[in-house]
Amino acid sequence: MATLTELPQIERLPLAHLVLPEDHPEATKTRETPVFAYLIHHPDGVILVDTGVGRGNAFIEEVYQPSIVDVVDALAGCGVDHRDVVAVVNSHLHFDHCGQNPSFYGLNVPVYVQASEVEAAKQPYYTDSTWALVPTAQLRSVRGDEDIAEGVRLIATPGHTVGHQSVIIEGGETLVVIAAQSVWSASAFSTMKPEDSNIDDDSLRKAAADSILRLRSLNPSVAFFSHDPRVYRGT
Ligand SMILES: [Zn+2]
Repeated sequence: MATLTELPQIERLPLAHLVLPEDHPEATKTRETPVFAYLIHHPDGVILVDTGVGRGNAFIEEVYQPSIVDVVDALAGCGVDHRDVVAVVNSHLHFDHCGQNPSFYGLNVPVYVQASEVEAAKQPYYTDSTWALVPTAQLRSVRGDEDIAEGVRLIATPGHTVGHQSVIIEGGETLVVIAAQSVWSASAFSTMKPEDSNIDDDSLRKAAADSILRLRSLNPSVAFFSHDPRVYRGT
């Protein structure tokens, strides 16, 4: 992957706050969780990783009681017009990662999702399909790893879901990982033991561990997560 001479600025966008239902696998540890998206200020234009929670789904509103920040407003707060975003990446298609994708539908911006995740999202109860269903003209189905800009690579990190992907940003001597929900917490990334509760399907257990190993083997200086405000810092 061609690298940039300088690491682009990466900003975290707090896009929602959820109250986890009692039977949620993570609810034994915490009932409330933030939902973060990330913004990469790439020299070619802004890249957005995940879009938070959408509005208007009665089931999600009742079960998760989301407090939602509008992605358009959050971007504006960072000095970015959402119409200037040059690429949207969904780490996966659960409702809290693609919820405001529709703010970008109809614009001339590609939306990158793993092909296997697009397939998985067709299952009932997987997500809100009105949020997750990327218009064909904008969908970029990724199969494995793909460079989407100089110094920016998507890599398949299955585990939480079959088509979960992470983003690597490399500039100068520095490599940063947006690990999204590969793990729930920064501590799991440190110990390289993904939480059982973060794995959707038992058959993905080994894949989840392999994905963390793969990300850690890149020796990232920093790794960011979707639901943990803590940051992993490499040595
Ligand atoms: Zn998820």
